[in-house]
Amino acid sequence: MSKKLAIHGGKPVRKKPLFYSKHWVDEKDIKAVVKVLRSDWLTMGSSIQRFEKAVAEYAGAKHAIALSSGTAALHGCMFGLGIKPGDEVITSPMTFVASSNAVLYMGGRPVFADINPTTGNIDHDEIKRKISKRTKAIIPVHYAGLPCDMADIKKIANQYNLKIVEDAAHALGSQYKVGNKWFKVGTCAHSDMATFSFHPVKNITSGEGGMILLNDKKLEKKTRFIRMHGISTDIRRRLKKELIWLYEMTDLGLNYRITDIQCALGISQMGKLKKFIKLRNKIAERYQAAFKDMEEISLPNLSAFQKSVLKHAWHLYVIKLNFEKLRGTREDIYFALRAENIWPQVHYIPVHLHPYYKKKLGYKKGDFPIAEAFYERILSLPLYPKMNGQDVEDVINAVKKVIQYYKK
Ligand SMILES: *Cc1c(COP(=O)(O)O)cnc(C)c1O
Repeated sequence: MSKKLAIHGGKPVRKKPLFYSKHWVDEKDIKAVVKVLRSDWLTMGSSIQRFEKAVAEYAGAKHAIALSSGTAALHGCMFGLGIKPGDEVITSPMTFVASSNAVLYMGGRPVFADINPTTGNIDHDEIKRKISKRTKAIIPVHYAGLPCDMADIKKIANQYNLKIVEDAAHALGSQYKVGNKWFKVGTCAHSDMATFSFHPVKNITSGEGGMILLNDKKLEKKTRFIRMHGISTDIRRRLKKELIWLYEMTDLGLNYRITDIQCALGISQMGKLKKFIKLRNKIAERYQAAFKDMEEISLPNLSAFQKSVLKHAWHLYVIKLNFEKLRGTREDIYFALRAENIWPQVHYIPVHLHPYYKKKLGYKKGDFPIAEAFYERILSLPLYPKMNGQDVEDVINAVKKVIQYYKK
């Protein structure tokens, strides 16, 4: 395959394919999982609370709810906030479909606000333009792990009495500074809730899994119901009878439970999070230095100002192709990189362009021109902690080789 695709000629820079992301699971992780497999509790055991505690303590949030996926976590937030038909929730079109689908699951309407073309994060003026009488919440997405300006989003939310749910699927390990204080994403100092995903491509993994972090006790209690069919056992306390068959279904929830097997992996992975983020930063810095003089591509633009107020988790390293300096299309460049055994990815097709969103919600091409133009130019290069020095150099060499071939 690679021979046929090697249209720019020469030997591929490497023999084995390198994908854009991959988990890092070591013997310690495996031992932790096996220990649960030998125990009495595969699900609904104590590993779940321990995982919740580990993430909540790391991020600095009061409460955590672990669920079966990041999607379930987003759905849980909309459930907890009581989003209902007629309600609108503003989010970014430059995200995975789960961010806005969570609103649809509750019968609400996702309203997109276009993005900032430099950061890929939601544009705050666009948020303000999209606020209506029906708007209930904003879901900012920390694209690629670069934190949104949460203090400013909080200001907008306060002004219009809106709730904020951070889709932090990319941003476990990211931090931002307000005044002279650093905040970890997930601490919810400028939001009501934040969600993480532990899919294997994310910053840590539990196989599948997700978590909601929040500080409000009442909201936590309400939200938690989604995980187990909307069932409460409060009746036992009310009747002062420890009758184990007694429970009440008070809400329509789901089975969104995560297993102890997954949580054991998650707890073990949390022990490596700092190392993972450090390695991600090291690779990103190497890319920034290696590509800095190439006019044919634009790099993630972290100005000196941003660097002083943001700590990037580098979930993704996204380059933008400058077509005025290139004679190839993105497809050409994508296939040429694949021929070198480097497999980039594209994050994301703007959500409003999916057939479901067009047909059911009436969105169309042209609605969010900045996100659409952004999408046309982007490629996510491989970046994950397990990459070795040679892997990183292979990516750099392949990009340089392919861009050299396609430059005008
Ligand atoms: C991965 C991801 C999700 C969904 O998480 P899952 O655990 O796969 O359900 C949601 N939003 C964003 C931005 C993501 O990248």
